[in-house]
Amino acid sequence: MKILVINAGSSSLKYQLIDMETENVMAKGLCERIGIDGHLKHTPLVGDKPVFNEDVPMPTHSEAIAAVIDKLTSKEYGVVASMKEIDAVGHRVVHGGEKFASSVLITDDVIKAIEECTPFAPLHNPANITGINACKAVMGDVPMVAVFDTAFHQTMPAKAFMYALPYDYYKKDGIRRYGFHGTSHRYVSARCAEIMGKPIEELKIVSCHMGNGSSIAAIDGGKCVDTSMGFTPLVGLPMGTRCGDLDPGAMQFIMNKYNLGIDETLNILNKKSGVLGVSGVSSDFRDLDNASADGNDRAALALEMFQYWVAKVAGSYVAAMNGVDAIVFTAGVGENSADTRKAIAKYFGYLGVTIDDEANKKRGEDVMISTPDSKVKVFVIPTNEELVIARDTKEIVG
Ligand code: ADP
Repeated sequence: MKILVINAGSSSLKYQLIDMETENVMAKGLCERIGIDGHLKHTPLVGDKPVFNEDVPMPTHSEAIAAVIDKLTSKEYGVVASMKEIDAVGHRVVHGGEKFASSVLITDDVIKAIEECTPFAPLHNPANITGINACKAVMGDVPMVAVFDTAFHQTMPAKAFMYALPYDYYKKDGIRRYGFHGTSHRYVSARCAEIMGKPIEELKIVSCHMGNGSSIAAIDGGKCVDTSMGFTPLVGLPMGTRCGDLDPGAMQFIMNKYNLGIDETLNILNKKSGVLGVSGVSSDFRDLDNASADGNDRAALALEMFQYWVAKVAGSYVAAMNGVDAIVFTAGVGENSADTRKAIAKYFGYLGVTIDDEANKKRGEDVMISTPDSKVKVFVIPTNEELVIARDTKEIVG
C-alpha cells in the first residue's frame, strides 16, 4: 500500500509518498507560492531519479496537486508508474475541535465538520480543506483520511482544559484549551515506550516539542492529560516569534499606549515576540547560540527564558502526573541543540536526572541521553508526523 501524505497551508503544500510495506518515504516535496506564481521542489528518494526544483504555475491548490501527481508518476522524476498505485491520501488537519478525538475517513459530513471548526483556526482549517478538495478534484475517489493536530489532546480532563472564565464561554462557544502538535507528541511518546520496552499504559512521559513553535505535553499511560498550547498555538512557552503566556492586561496596556488595533497587536504577539522579540537578533536558535557566544546579552536572556520555561512547564507536569518516567525532546531545537537540552536537564536535578554528554552529542537518531543510572530517562526522538498520518490512513482505509 502506498500513501500520499499532504500538509496543505494557505500558499504552500508539503507532501510525502510512503510505501507502507517498508514505511520508507519514496518521494517528498514542497509546493510554494500557490496562488501567486508557483514553485515545486520534488525529491525522489528511491532509485537514482534527479530532484525537480523549478517554477510551475499554480493558480490554485488543484494545479499544485496536479503538478505533484505529475512528478510522482513521470518517467524522469517519478517513483510510481501511475496514480492508480497511490492507494490513499492522509491529510494533516490542524483543528478538529471537540468533534474529533481521532483520525477519520473523509466524507462530505467530515468536511462540513472541519469547516465548522474553522472559527478556531481561521488560517489553517480553510487551507487544509482546500488541500482536501484539490485532491478530490485531481484524484477522484481515492480514499482520504484526516489526521488532526488537536485530536491527541482530547483525552485531557476538564480540570486541565477549562479556562477559569464564565462557564457559558465554554458551553456556548467552545472556548477551552485544545492543544496542538498532537501528532508529534503521540508519535514520540509511543516511540519512547517502544525504546524503553514497556507498555505505554505503565509510563508517565513529558514530551517536549521544541521547534519554531513549541509545546509540552503530559502523557500518562499513553493519554494526554495536559499540554501547554491553548485555545490557539500562541500560548505556553516563549517560541521563535510567539510570546507564549502573557497577562491580557499587558496586551491592553500596549494597545492603549501605542493606539494599536487587535489585529496589529496579535500580529506582534505572533510574529514579533518570543525569542526574536526578546533578543532582537533572530527567531532561529542557531543564530541565538552564535550571538550569545559573541557576548550578546539579550540573545543569552532569550535562550535562558526558553530553557527556564520548558523546565517550569515540564516540572508542573511532573506534579500533575505525580511522577515521571521519561522526558523526551523532539523537533528542530529538541533534536539538534545539545546545549539547550543540557541546560534544560540541569533544572531536573531534583528528579535525579543525569545527562550522558557523549550520547547528548548524537544527532538524527533515537537516543537515550541520560546516564544508565539516571532515575528519570531522557530521550531525543526525531519526530515523524507524516508517518503517523500514513499509519492512521492505512489503518482506517485498510
Ligand atoms: P517547525 O516548528 O516550523 O516545524 P522545526 O521543528 O523544523 O520547526 O524547528 C525549526 C527550528 O529548529 C529552527 O528555527 C531552529 O531554531 C532550530 N534548529 C534547527 N537546527 C538547530 C541546531 N543545530 N541548533 C539549534 N537549533 C536548531
